[in-house]
Amino acid sequence: MAECIFCKIIKGDIPSRKVYEDDAVLAFDDISPMAPAHVVIIPKKHIATLMDVDAKADITGKLIAAAQQVAEIKQVAESGFRLAINCNADGGQVVFHLHMHLLGGRKLEDQLG
Ligand code: AMP
Ligand code: ZN
Repeated sequence: MAECIFCKIIKGDIPSRKVYEDDAVLAFDDISPMAPAHVVIIPKKHIATLMDVDAKADITGKLIAAAQQVAEIKQVAESGFRLAINCNADGGQVVFHLHMHLLGGRKLEDQLG
């Protein structure tokens, strides 16, 4: 998707601070962090929303495996972190390229929203 901001990050047309990368997944620091560790984890293939994911496809496990790696890299695996996927308008999704937020490095609020 030419106009998708995260596809542009994958192509290198928009700079990002890469945290982790493999054949299927890219993770980079969120430009507007809500916690000391705030990483955006995306599939390299454009998928618009969580509802467009084939839950049985390899990408599902690869995203989770990438989140584990990111947690280790950001040194929050032991202290703890939160993974969040916003979906569509009420979920607060702004960028329509599937992504997980990994948040950690501080005590997060008990309430999700
Ligand atoms: P969401 O509301 O779940 O769609 O979240 C989109 C996230 O992408 C927000 O937390 C933004 O701060 C983040 N974001 C948008 N543009 C960039 C960018 N160029 N580099 C890094 N993060 C970005
Ligand atoms: Zn995209």
